[in-house]
Amino acid sequence: MSSSADASKRGVVFNGVRFDGVLFDCDGVLVDSERITSRVWAGLLTGIGLPTTTEQSLATYLGNSMPRCLEIVTAQLGRTPPDTLLPRFYAEVQAALETEVTAVDGIEAVLDALDAAGVGYGVASNGEHEKMRTTLGVTGLLTRFENRRFSAVDVARPKPAPDLFLHAAQRLGFDPRRTLVVEDSPLGVQGAFTAGMTVIGYAELVAPERLVAAGAAHTVSDMRELLEFVG
Ligand SMILES: [Mg+2]
Repeated sequence: MSSSADASKRGVVFNGVRFDGVLFDCDGVLVDSERITSRVWAGLLTGIGLPTTTEQSLATYLGNSMPRCLEIVTAQLGRTPPDTLLPRFYAEVQAALETEVTAVDGIEAVLDALDAAGVGYGVASNGEHEKMRTTLGVTGLLTRFENRRFSAVDVARPKPAPDLFLHAAQRLGFDPRRTLVVEDSPLGVQGAFTAGMTVIGYAELVAPERLVAAGAAHTVSDMRELLEFVG
């Protein structure tokens, strides 16, 4: 097919490249969960003798897998945290997310535009499947991601390794070099960049410079800015 014919097709075009599809991070990109999760985590860490504010929790743990979070806690605490930490965290987060989580402002308009343009998309999260079902379910986004949800538990290594992005792209039939990724954490940006994908950073909780330093080709501060690339 000639490039002129390609150019007449609807789709996602960024920096002159037409993309096969889009992979979204979940927490902080589709759903506004990071402040809730960080507040719960900070409270529990404070309770086990590691005083932590929500802001510190966001700065230290954002985008990390749970095994990596526990490594950081163990190093800072100087000992292994109590076995009750994780069960309590999951229970408290689940309860808080079920009542508090909202969709990220503007994301529904972006997904509507992708649907209208016939562009495929999926979600790739370091979080567990159950957490995605909760947050996407509460926010009404779940049905948009049937058979399009990929978790770090599905692959060998979580972000910042490229494994999860490559796995999701392969399953969805996207060429990694023509996969656009939307991420809000430096670790997630790094993972997608390492996978050879083009990354747009959503700079809501993290300064845009940090996302660019991790490999983002562009940053937005409002999801609706993505609409200019969908036609
Ligand atoms: Mg995130």
